[in-house]
Amino acid sequence: MDRSPVPVPMLTSLLVDAIHEANQAEGKRPKAFDTLFRASDAGKCARQIAFGSLGYEETEPMDFAGTWVTTLGTRIHEMWQTTLLADYPDAEIEVKLRHGDLLSGHADAVVVMPEGIKVMYELKTMGSYGFDKAMGLMRKSWSRKEPEGPRLSAILQGSMNALAAGADLLVIGIIGLEAMSKGYAEKVGASDLDRIMGEWHYSREEFEPLALAELQRLEEVKGWLDAETLPPRWGIGEDGRSTEFSPENGQQFPCGYCGYRSACIHYGAAPVTLDLVRRRSHAIQ
Ligand code: SF4
Repeated sequence: MDRSPVPVPMLTSLLVDAIHEANQAEGKRPKAFDTLFRASDAGKCARQIAFGSLGYEETEPMDFAGTWVTTLGTRIHEMWQTTLLADYPDAEIEVKLRHGDLLSGHADAVVVMPEGIKVMYELKTMGSYGFDKAMGLMRKSWSRKEPEGPRLSAILQGSMNALAAGADLLVIGIIGLEAMSKGYAEKVGASDLDRIMGEWHYSREEFEPLALAELQRLEEVKGWLDAETLPPRWGIGEDGRSTEFSPENGQQFPCGYCGYRSACIHYGAAPVTLDLVRRRSHAIQ
């Protein structure tokens, strides 16, 4: 909103402009190891994973809003990791983990607790929509339902990292970017910390089967690439079931946030040979 009587350039956007420019100059963060996929591909659509693995340039790169939210998340991670090391000097941060040549990633932290329990820790920062779902908050009616916990993609990513780290326990923490109001928290009996964060613990009996199932799904995605074919628009829906996505139907999850949406629509739902994708990739960027 411009309330200035004399037109001047926008000042508020200076920071996000600078961050956006720096990110573009830096490019995508390299994988932890030279593997086909990233651990952060966990739970994603098979075709989206394939585009990323092929090094296909995003047709919808991250916008300013995405850049801002991601930067806030990165800063919070860095501050949390610094604090962790102050309290647990033997902890490891940004731990490089891999499952053979299939995938690799950087885990937020691995720490052996004084009780001898090896913890693989993942932190997720969230805007109010995701935070409310995870914590079971219904802000409009000032009520609370059963918390849904972390997103399935976060649990799958954490599970694969925990398995690779040989952890006893997977811990996923959530920090919201917006606090519950004091009045609302009082009404639903939320504690001071509940207003801004939550934490979930998963035993090896819980995370191992999830990790193995996701590794098997990623092997299937690899199978499509080995067959020189762009995978179908297939992934895991918000309900955890196998789902076929329709990017043509507006901005629905996950397509609305997919960096390859235009490319995906361009190629259509039918199988496409990678040869055709490689030949056409320049034409649609
Ligand atoms: S637009 Fe949707 S279906 Fe297409 S690659 Fe992205 S997430 Fe998958």
